[in-house]
Amino acid sequence: MAIIELKEIRKVYHQGDLRVEVLKGVTLEVEKGDFIAIMGASGSGKSTLLYIIGCLESPTSGSYSLGGVEVSSLDDDDLSRIRNERLGFIFQSFYLIPYLTVMENVLVPTIYSARRADFKSRARELLGRVGLSDRFSFLPSELSGGQKQRTAIVRSLINDPDIVLADEPTGQLDSSSSAQVMDILKGLNNQGKTVVLVTHDDATASYAKKRVVMKDGLIHPA
Ligand code: ADP
Ligand code: MG
Repeated sequence: MAIIELKEIRKVYHQGDLRVEVLKGVTLEVEKGDFIAIMGASGSGKSTLLYIIGCLESPTSGSYSLGGVEVSSLDDDDLSRIRNERLGFIFQSFYLIPYLTVMENVLVPTIYSARRADFKSRARELLGRVGLSDRFSFLPSELSGGQKQRTAIVRSLINDPDIVLADEPTGQLDSSSSAQVMDILKGLNNQGKTVVLVTHDDATASYAKKRVVMKDGLIHPA
């Protein structure tokens, strides 16, 4: 059974009198351990689809089963728990908290946990693995773009999710930082994590095992 199973997902936005159907019946299966890139032009609905997969948005209609559980049947508490425990998020613009250090930023998803001390040693180890051992007490403004994204990757991993969702993770990075970030995502996938990547960039998408394209509200083979 696929870990992510979308069937006939539709998403309609209303802006004033305007009705925009962004997703027009998307059907997609992602197997456990997959690394899939969702490509497509700007405005084609990639982020909308990823936010639905990440339980940050709900579809207008259609069914979404995550790990065998129908997401529409879950209440807000269940959804928060799934987002926190099973899903890691990485965004184009990092979303680091500017007045927190690298270490404090990566620990943000653990603030409600009773095991903060354990998380701190895990954070140290993960930050070391992405080359940030000497940056624990730096603020985001003191980091390069690549270092910011590597911090955000560690934050996404702190609760050891089995699925990592990345929305244009290289969109603000130069080519060498992009390669570093994508090598990290590839390594995570090699360790068994399921990765869903959204990108309009061919070089970034080339790291994935499988590629699909969003066009006219539907998924097409790449
Ligand atoms: P992509 O990530 O491929 O660039 P998006 O999923 O961000 O595309 O957006 C797809 C379309 O949906 C765009 O036309 C955008 O304007 C519209 N859209 C996205 N979010 C909203 C929203 N919250 N309200 C209204 N329209 C939205
Ligand atoms: Mg987008």
